[in-house]
Amino acid sequence: MDKMDRMDTLSLWKATAKTFEHGKLLEGNEEADVVIIGAGFTGLSSAYHLHKMGKSVIVLEQETIGYGASGRNGGMVLPGYKPTMQDLAKKYGENEARQLNDLSLNSVELVKNIIDEHQINCDFRKTGHVVAAYKAKHFEEMKHESEYLNKYFGYETSVLDRNQLPQEIDSPVYYGGLVDNTSYSFHPLNYAIGLGEAAKSVGAKIFEHSKALSIEYGRNSVKVVIEKGVVTAKDIIVATDGYSGKLLNELNKGVLPISARIIATEQLPESLLNTVIPNDRMIFDTSNFLYYFRRTPDHRIVFGGGDVRPNLGDAAYQSVYDAMVKIMPKLAERKIDYRWGGFIGVTVDTFPIIGRSKEGAYFATGYSGHGASLSTLFGKLLAQWIVTGNAGGFRFEKERLKTFPFYNQKMMLVNLAHISFKLLDMIG
Ligand SMILES: Cc1cc2nc3c(=O)[nH]c(=O)nc-3n(C[C@H](O)[C@H](O)[C@H](O)COP(=O)(O)OP(=O)(O)OC[C@H]3O[C@@H](n4cnc5c(N)ncnc54)[C@H](O)[C@@H]3O)c2cc1C
Repeated sequence: MDKMDRMDTLSLWKATAKTFEHGKLLEGNEEADVVIIGAGFTGLSSAYHLHKMGKSVIVLEQETIGYGASGRNGGMVLPGYKPTMQDLAKKYGENEARQLNDLSLNSVELVKNIIDEHQINCDFRKTGHVVAAYKAKHFEEMKHESEYLNKYFGYETSVLDRNQLPQEIDSPVYYGGLVDNTSYSFHPLNYAIGLGEAAKSVGAKIFEHSKALSIEYGRNSVKVVIEKGVVTAKDIIVATDGYSGKLLNELNKGVLPISARIIATEQLPESLLNTVIPNDRMIFDTSNFLYYFRRTPDHRIVFGGGDVRPNLGDAAYQSVYDAMVKIMPKLAERKIDYRWGGFIGVTVDTFPIIGRSKEGAYFATGYSGHGASLSTLFGKLLAQWIVTGNAGGFRFEKERLKTFPFYNQKMMLVNLAHISFKLLDMIG
């Protein structure tokens, strides 16, 4: 991780972020009931909910609010998980899969409620999304998934075959698609900033440029050491996901940081946007490289996915651009105004986890590219766990964070993942 490229080029989100009062650097000694490391959606949501439940909170962020995946993502606020509902039903049984489906819908509602209650200005819009089939067999699986969701969960989606797909996407690449109306798009960094402001409005203290260097565990308290100070608290949440480094052994072993890159086009004519993505849906596909794209309120197309290896520089963005043009040939020759990247925290089975380390630190992690809404819910569940002693007894809490083999060689693991994704996408 330390050797990895930080992909800190200017993102569209940063270029258009609202101004806000930044947190100070923490200097000296501070105390709170709970100290939270990481000011992404998970950490900020935990802080917000903990304060509402009567606990005092200090959040430590090594850079600025939303610096990690939360301020860099595609802004697709989706229900569901990385695995499909049929996958989850096979693994955990139908009742639990139904509960998981409901929880994911609740997470989208929770984001909406917080945005409404605190009037967070983040372009939150109900656009719905389309899952596009990258292979013919994915389309067959998609039809089963749609029937399954309808029959067993009463959850309605519709399926478009190859001839109908241009209603949603003008692309020669896909074999069909599944349309789901429940999702929203937003400006992720403005949501993170708004969530931070909501947390501050109920009393949380957020310190920026305050990197947690080490954690010292006592009998009934914990100390977090930063460069110029120390925070003492009763409980600790580590909400660092794909940016975890080695601070917590469990996260170091069980979360793989995968590089994800995005480009944003220049502003495009409305007529072109209405041809390429006519109904303004968000789209992601079923390839292992997971291409995803959407329109923005300022008339661009944001497009992400592809090569997951770090440190590729220009070549990585060129491959994202090439994929965009292959998928939407009408975007050829269009200028790219912004390009950026971030780290997705992935678990062994791509299912997110809420847990506690051996020493007692709470964590929620591993959304595996599907965390824009779940992370807000998981932050709330962490708060509930600290205050009431349980996080609701859901599956994420029952599972253990599995260790990646050769976790000390993350570069090698990411390279292997890249090769296997490439091969799997190539074969029919
Ligand atoms: C490019 C990209 C596109 C994505 N697109 C989507 C999408 O469209 N839809 C979707 O559902 N999900 C998407 N995701 C995933 C989603 O963004 C994440 O699941 C979610 O934001 C995770 O939030 P988090 O708060 O757990 O972690 P992060 O937002 O990554 O926050 C972790 C924070 O911890 C801080 N930190 C780390 N170590 C320390 C330390 N020692 N001291 C202090 N602070 C520290 C980091 O600086 C960082 O700010 C995407 C992710 C990426 C990278």
